[in-house]
Amino acid sequence: MNRNRVTHTATERRLVRLPSGSDVSVTVHRYEGGPGPTVYVQAAQHGIELNGTAALRRLHDHLLSTEIAGTVLVVPIANPRAFDHRSYVTPQALDAVNSNMNRVWPGNEEGTLQERAARRLWCLFEDADAVIDLHTGAADMLEHVRFHDDSKALAAAFDTEHLLVDTLEEDAADRYFSGKLRTAAARAGIPAITPELSNSRQVDHSAVQRGVAGIRNVLREMNVLDGEPDTPSTRTVFRSAGDCIRAEESGFFEPNPDIEVGDRVSPETALGAVYNPSTFEELQTVTARERGIVYSLTRESVVAAGEKLADIAEVV
Ligand SMILES: [Zn+2]
Repeated sequence: MNRNRVTHTATERRLVRLPSGSDVSVTVHRYEGGPGPTVYVQAAQHGIELNGTAALRRLHDHLLSTEIAGTVLVVPIANPRAFDHRSYVTPQALDAVNSNMNRVWPGNEEGTLQERAARRLWCLFEDADAVIDLHTGAADMLEHVRFHDDSKALAAAFDTEHLLVDTLEEDAADRYFSGKLRTAAARAGIPAITPELSNSRQVDHSAVQRGVAGIRNVLREMNVLDGEPDTPSTRTVFRSAGDCIRAEESGFFEPNPDIEVGDRVSPETALGAVYNPSTFEELQTVTARERGIVYSLTRESVVAAGEKLADIAEVV
């Protein structure tokens, strides 16, 4: 494939108009190197997930000094209103129905504000050949790349030790999962992956470096960049068991200090306990139900009934 020196443009794309009459716009970077595939990369559709945005600045420097085939489209901040408010979701005052942008894809031009914003972005990349939607998790979530089976090559190319596979049919039928960008893209025939880099709210340099390396690997896999992806020597693929472990009653959760995300567990492995913090009564002994890997374990001690405490995934 012929690779050419990159031509770069940065333009503003208006997503929606606010009640005041001012616009919400995103900056779209377009890196072009002649004929070839189109890869779309975005970050910060959740406003506190910043390592993707930081990775895209470093990717920018790299792309400007190299040759590519095809086009790379980059939106560093997909949800500016959530970002400005330092909030995970869009302010409720703007969209109380659909405050989570990652539940409304592929959007609706006649819908709520969030649905309209997603639609305007969707129209930007609906002809892309691959989508990378950069997210981050808190320290209590294992860093991983989430994917459907049809996107396995992209997920494998991204430089991460853990990969979490989902079933497209199950996600598409699930009210909670069907509006995720990854699911909507897959239904439209675009392979898509969701890297969950570590740490929200702050820049974690090692996570940022892994993000840049991962995107470059995917661009190599897509033949946009020259060379083969560098892939980790050990990689674990796991599948979410679907039912996470939840608090049976409201109380105070103390996780088992010997357990960390990434640990392998068996049925009955102690994960912690929920107490009544006033009477000291133990309300729930929290144990793993299946053999697997801990991919999330909450570090928030105050928990309400029904809230998620841990996720154990089955190693594939
Ligand atoms: Zn997110």
